[in-house]
Amino acid sequence: MSDYQETLYEGYGQRFRMDKLLHEVRTEHQHLVIFENPRMGRVMALDGVIQTTEADEFIYHEMLTHVPILAHGAARKVLIIGGGDGGMLREVSKHKSVEHITMVEIDGTVVDMCKEFLPEHSKGAYDDPRLNLVIDDGMRFVATTEEKFDVIISDSTDPIGPGEVLFSENFYQACRRCLNDGGILVTQNGTPFMQLDGVQNTAGRMNGLFADWHFYMAAVPTYIGGAMTFAWGATTAGLRNIPLDTLRQRFAGSGIVTRYYNPEVHLGAFALPQYVLHAIGKPSNT
Ligand code: SAM
Repeated sequence: MSDYQETLYEGYGQRFRMDKLLHEVRTEHQHLVIFENPRMGRVMALDGVIQTTEADEFIYHEMLTHVPILAHGAARKVLIIGGGDGGMLREVSKHKSVEHITMVEIDGTVVDMCKEFLPEHSKGAYDDPRLNLVIDDGMRFVATTEEKFDVIISDSTDPIGPGEVLFSENFYQACRRCLNDGGILVTQNGTPFMQLDGVQNTAGRMNGLFADWHFYMAAVPTYIGGAMTFAWGATTAGLRNIPLDTLRQRFAGSGIVTRYYNPEVHLGAFALPQYVLHAIGKPSNT
């Protein structure tokens, strides 16, 4: 048995025992590995960075879908950028009120290999008739599409390699253009303790672009270095402060059973610690 050593950070990282290597390939865009680990289940890594594990993916996928969709309250069209493992699509598809899901993933091999080796992630969601799966660069898609969306979820790799463009000013501006009134953009934005510059960069690019921008947090064990941030950009103010009772009604009405998300966690996730508020230039969480 060998080990998989994550290489995201210089001089600091996590190691997974690889009990069984399920697949390894250099795709057109990145190096993909899927293996079995006794504690985390099946694990997928891209270009040396752990992307998702069977054990803890529910936290990340529930928080990046149910927070914006339940805050929005009437999301009909959802766009997922990235998300090739299928977990985000699975959670979005649980919302019966959503009428159309577009997913733009740059690497078709990730989709195919995760369908085969991580079937619990997509759990058949790729067969959802509401899905329009586009294999393309998410930046190109949002820059050129005429479609408008109620919720946009950027489920990208870190800002290295093909994912880098999904953290650019152009990307956020294009996403803003693709949102309907009342629309919300949320993105994977790394762990602030380790990647504070990433949060600062996103804050600077969202400020002035969205009527309300902020971040929310959740601890996902395999995104090491502490709780991670999700960027939030809303076209109208107030969507970040939906009354708890309203969220409870919407969550109950969705009929969705979760393992991490609940309305109290939803609202609490927006309470950022002082060092993150300071980094993004905000005096408080309002
Ligand atoms: N949960 C992971 C995280 O937080 O780092 C992300 C998982 S998902 C596997 C990331 C996906 O983003 C990958 O499938 C990758 O191929 C895709 N991706 C990277 N750059 C992209 C781009 N420019 N356009 C569309 N998809 C992209």
